[in-house]
Amino acid sequence: MVRPVLRTCVGCRQIREQPALVRITADPSGGVVVVPPQAPKAPGRGTYLCPSLPCLEKAWHRRAFRRALPGLDEVALRERFEAELRRRGVIAA
Ligand SMILES: [Zn+2]
Repeated sequence: MVRPVLRTCVGCRQIREQPALVRITADPSGGVVVVPPQAPKAPGRGTYLCPSLPCLEKAWHRRAFRRALPGLDEVALRERFEAELRRRGVIAA
């Protein structure tokens, strides 16, 4: 039996299976990388979010990224997060 890997959304604090979440890491140049689910071992400190814009907003206002990912660019993060949600079909393209 394989146990699912569980992670906590930094927006709503719900614990979910990792593939259901979007992983966000900072790249070495200070940019943001939204890591596709097929690449779970991308380097760097990461944080997890539900594929949901309200969770992104909550996490931003709670300053959750400032702790895990200092220097993160909010505009770049939002653009890439939205692109990932479109890719997953969560929001309209
Ligand atoms: Zn969430």
